[in-house]
Amino acid sequence: MSNIIRTIYPFTGEILKEYKRFTEEQVIETINKSAEIFQTWKSISLDKRINKLNNLKKTLEEQKEQCANFITHEMGKPYKESIAEIEKCIWLIEFYKENAIQFLSDDIIKTEAQESFISYDPMGVILAIMPWNYPFWQVLRFAIPTLTAGNTVLVKHADNVTGCALAIQRVFETAGYQEGCFQTVLVSHKQVRSIIENKNIKAVTLTGSEKAGKAISKITGEHLKKTVLELGGNNACIIWEDADLDKYIKTIVNARMQNAGQSCIAAKRFIIVEEIYDEFVEKFKSELQKLRFGAPTDPKTEISTLAKEDFVKELQEQINESLKMGAKVVIGNKYKKAFFEPTIIENVTPGMPVFDEEVFGPVAAFTKAEDREHSIQLASQSKFGLGTMLFTEDIENARKQIDKIEDGAFFINEMVKSDPRLPFGGTKNSGYGRELSKEGILEFVNKKTVYVR
Ligand code: NAP
Repeated sequence: MSNIIRTIYPFTGEILKEYKRFTEEQVIETINKSAEIFQTWKSISLDKRINKLNNLKKTLEEQKEQCANFITHEMGKPYKESIAEIEKCIWLIEFYKENAIQFLSDDIIKTEAQESFISYDPMGVILAIMPWNYPFWQVLRFAIPTLTAGNTVLVKHADNVTGCALAIQRVFETAGYQEGCFQTVLVSHKQVRSIIENKNIKAVTLTGSEKAGKAISKITGEHLKKTVLELGGNNACIIWEDADLDKYIKTIVNARMQNAGQSCIAAKRFIIVEEIYDEFVEKFKSELQKLRFGAPTDPKTEISTLAKEDFVKELQEQINESLKMGAKVVIGNKYKKAFFEPTIIENVTPGMPVFDEEVFGPVAAFTKAEDREHSIQLASQSKFGLGTMLFTEDIENARKQIDKIEDGAFFINEMVKSDPRLPFGGTKNSGYGRELSKEGILEFVNKKTVYVR
C-alpha cells in the first residue's frame, strides 16, 4: 500500500487531494493521546458529556453544506442525498441527547442484597474501521453513543473518503470536544493490525465487507478484544401476489437504487410470486426510467456514478457470469468509466453470482417464486442476514413469517432502513453486534454487576 492516499471525484476522475499516511510514531502518539484523554473524559459527568451533543448538533447544522460537499465529491453521491445523510446524523445526535441518561443509568436489580445493580462503565479507547458508502453516518452512528458512554475513539476511515474523515474530526473539535476524544488515523491495513494489537485499544468495530470482517476478527480474536461487525448484505425483497404496487413501487425501487445501489441494506434480490411477476417488471422498469441521472453536484440529480471506477468491473463480472448461467438483461447493463446504468436482470436463480453474492451497485436481480411459501424459502437462501422486506396486503399472514426470517431485520411494506430509535445489525455473514438505540450505546461498556450485602 502506498504511503500517499489520493482522493478522486469519480464523476470526472479528477484527483481532489493527496494525504500522507501516518508514520508508526504518529500512530503511537495518537493512541497514547486517546488513552490519556480517556482518563479525564470518562470522569466528567454524563450530563456534561450529553451537553457536548448540543454543540455538536449546532456545529453540524452550521457546516451541513460543507460536509455534504465533501461526501458528494469524494464518492459521487448526489448532493441531495449527501444533505439527507447529514440531516440524519443530526437526528441521531438529538436521539442520544434525549435518551443517553436513561440508557446509561444504573439498572437496579432486586435480590436479597441491600443493593444490587448494573453499572455501565466505559471501556477505554475504541477503534472503528469504517466504509465509504455513508461516510458521515457510519462514523457518527458509532462515535456518538460510544463517546457519550465515556469512551474515546480512533477512526480508520476508507481511504477514498479521507477528506470526510478529517472533516468529521474538525466537527468534533469545533464543537468543543477535548482534543483526543475523537481522532482519525490515516493508516494502511498493515498498520491497522498494529493498532489492534496495542494494549490501549480495548475494542474494535468494523463496518465493511465480509472479507474485511474475516481479516479483522482474526486479529481481534488473537488478542481477545471485543468486536462488533457490521458487514455486507444481500437483502431479499419479497413481493406477494396481493402487494399494492401502485402504493409501494417508488419505495421498492428506492430500496435498490439509493446511493446508486451501494448500500449494505439495499434490496438486492427481488423474489416475486409468479402471479404478479409481469405487472411488477413493468412497474419497476417504468419507475426506474424516471430516475434523473446527472452530475452529483447538481441538486436535481437522483442517481450518478459509482464511488470508484474499479467497482464497474466487479459488477460486470458478476453480471456476465450470471448471464452465462441463464439470466437475462431486461434493461440497462451499460457502463462507462465510473457510471453503471441502472439495470434489471431476470431469470435469476440460486447459484448465480447475482443471487449468491452481494452486488454493490444499481443492479436489481429478479427471481420468480411459485407461491408465497416458495418466496420465503428463496429469500432465506443466503449466507447473509442483514434484513428482509415483504410487500403484501395480508399483514396477518406476513406476521406469521416473522419467526421464519433469520435476519437482523424484517420490514413489512417498507424498505429496510436504519433509524436511531431501532437496533441495527446482522446475523450470519452480515456480522454480529448492534448499533443505534439502547443496544448500540451498550456495545462498548463494561456491564458491571455491583452487589452490596
Ligand atoms: P471494505 O473494503 O471492507 O472496507 C471497509 C473498511 O475496512 C475500509 O476502511 C477499509 O480500508 C478497511 N479494510 C478493508 N480490509 C481491511 C484489512 N484487511 N485490514 C484493515 N482494514 C481493512 O468495504 P467498503 O468497500 O468500504 O464498503 C462496502 C462494504 O461495506 C459492503 O460489503 C457493504 O455491505 C458493507 N457495509 C455494511 C454496513 C452495515 O451496517 N452492515 C454498512 C455499510 C457498508 P481501505 O479503504 O483502506 O481499504
